[in-house]
Amino acid sequence: MTTTKTADVDGTLAQVYALAGAGADIVRITCNDVEAAQGLAEIVPRSPVPIIADIHYQYRLALASIEAGVQGLRLNPGNIRKEDQIKIVAREAKDRGLPIRVGVNAGSLDRNLLEKHGSASPQALVESAQTEIRYLEEVDFTDIKISVKHSNISSMVESYRLLADTIDYPLHLGVTEAGPPPAGLIKSVAGIATLLNEGIGDTIRFSLTADPVEEAKAGRQLLEFLGLRERQGLDLIACPSCGRAEVDVIEVATAAQKALEEANLAIQVAVMGCVVNGPGEAREADIGIAAGRGRGHLFIKGRVVRVVPEDEMVDALLDEARKLVDEGVEARLAHAEENAEEIAAADRRQLVEIQGDANRATELRAQVAEIAKGD
Ligand code: SF4
Repeated sequence: MTTTKTADVDGTLAQVYALAGAGADIVRITCNDVEAAQGLAEIVPRSPVPIIADIHYQYRLALASIEAGVQGLRLNPGNIRKEDQIKIVAREAKDRGLPIRVGVNAGSLDRNLLEKHGSASPQALVESAQTEIRYLEEVDFTDIKISVKHSNISSMVESYRLLADTIDYPLHLGVTEAGPPPAGLIKSVAGIATLLNEGIGDTIRFSLTADPVEEAKAGRQLLEFLGLRERQGLDLIACPSCGRAEVDVIEVATAAQKALEEANLAIQVAVMGCVVNGPGEAREADIGIAAGRGRGHLFIKGRVVRVVPEDEMVDALLDEARKLVDEGVEARLAHAEENAEEIAAADRRQLVEIQGDANRATELRAQVAEIAKGD
């Protein structure tokens, strides 16, 4: 959702483009006064993605937004409450083929429901949605999606589960007022991912107190990490580092992330602090680098293809990552340096001798055999 004044057409459009670039498929823009509705008339035709007008209090602004050409509306049942007005909007939306999101929010729930249920409980949120759906269906409007957002994660999850049990319309997921990152991100992921993993939810939004581009980026990444959307960007995995690390993992991972994001490569990359465990632990990654004995072991799908000086690790990783994206895994494995695997194996042996085997596998095998034999 944009944070600019909608009347500021150029500022809002710039944000819409930034959001679309970060992975937003649709963008919501507030329509809170006449100037905002006029702004929408100029924004919508120039937008790269569908625009949803967010309507509060004045049903006439919904009608004005429709006239401005928006691709959908969000109505808040907590503050547009008159049945006849909701039905007027629904009829107009139906004539134009536009969907409406029934956007229930715990923070702006209808006073009557608050009194009836005693709090913004999941039952109260769902009842609010059901009442609005009934108004819409009564005028034969069914192009509906619904959200029941709550700032409390458990209540949010329960509200959507309850809703999914009772209606068959698409659901838009979100934790409202999640706050600034990192807490806002954690809350959003906790609520949204829980439901998505249960098969509940069709669209999502992260509501962060941050640059909205961060919201779009986080939402896209969550869908990519859950395997619900094809990867468009980088997935950097890095070990948390430990006493065995042969390099400052935070520094290398941060530098690698910056370089790879700038190169806009949609691959999974691993940065591992030691060569003893790194390549094995990250063998599923497309490409990775592990540090050891002053060198970096560059590996593709767990196989070491180059060994480079430590200070060239990030440059070598970026270079190989580019080639990997262009040429594919098989071609790059065919270009592996001849003795890279042997050099890497020698480095690992030396480190195990110095530091010991992190997994103590050899030692443990001997102990287990001894006990089994009963010697
Ligand atoms: S890869 Fe190496 S440095 Fe990183 S956490 Fe594992 S053992 Fe520690």
